[in-house]
Amino acid sequence: MNFNLDYIEFWATRHCNLNCKSCSSCSPLMSEWFLDLSALERDLMRIKSLSINIMNISVLGGEPLLHHDIAKIFYIVKEIYPTTNLSLLTNGILLSSMSEDFWISCRENDVMIKVTCFPIMSAVKRVELEKILQQNDVRYHMTDKKLFNKILVLNNKAAFDDIVKNCGCNKAYNLFDGHVSRCTVPMVTRDLNSYFDVDFITAGRLDVYSVDDGKQIMDFLETPNESCKNCADYTEKVAWERVGAYPKLKDWLVDD
Ligand code: SF4
Ligand code: SF4
Repeated sequence: MNFNLDYIEFWATRHCNLNCKSCSSCSPLMSEWFLDLSALERDLMRIKSLSINIMNISVLGGEPLLHHDIAKIFYIVKEIYPTTNLSLLTNGILLSSMSEDFWISCRENDVMIKVTCFPIMSAVKRVELEKILQQNDVRYHMTDKKLFNKILVLNNKAAFDDIVKNCGCNKAYNLFDGHVSRCTVPMVTRDLNSYFDVDFITAGRLDVYSVDDGKQIMDFLETPNESCKNCADYTEKVAWERVGAYPKLKDWLVDD
């Protein structure tokens, strides 16, 4: 039996050069971390061997352009999933310094470059970036982002159904370290726990090497699980800001 998985994303790096408050990847808490190319290849081959076709794959971070082999990452993905729609999500800061290899890989692998323009990006810089994208003949999309969502809560008293109803992760399934999850929350709870000495629920990751067939992965991704108890039954919108030198837990927690 074959399965169609609409979307999966993975981190090329976990650290970032912007460090936004409430970052859903918790990049401001991360030490330098670069995706291992052979691990990516192994994990995607494993998912493919379970007869799962992935229609859309996004490479993100952290800031993925910090990965020295970002151009090779695109080739690996397209070698395994030639027909997938491949996107790169970036804050754009490094685009003007990318090598020719990067641009060639973007064209050869038909990568859609999605630039998130945070308030820190000036209008002049934005125009300059757009020119670079056009000159390099790549597909691209630029979006403004001024607001972030805070959803996490400790000692949650909300009803599970209400949490799931409020969930805005929109099936942003994540692949990290041989595991899949319904969103980034299960991938960052260990990091939040160790950085802030708190007790988020760490469930919600499935080891792709532990399953017997692709259906187990599909069912897992479609079903809310214990990790959802880390989320509030409402979303708090906050204005974009950088964390500064000292990230604080309240930058990820909703106000009670
Ligand atoms: S630019 Fe993106 S990955 Fe980097 S800290 Fe901000 S939200 Fe997180
Ligand atoms: S943990 Fe559950 S409720 Fe929270 S964002 Fe992820 S899927 Fe949604």
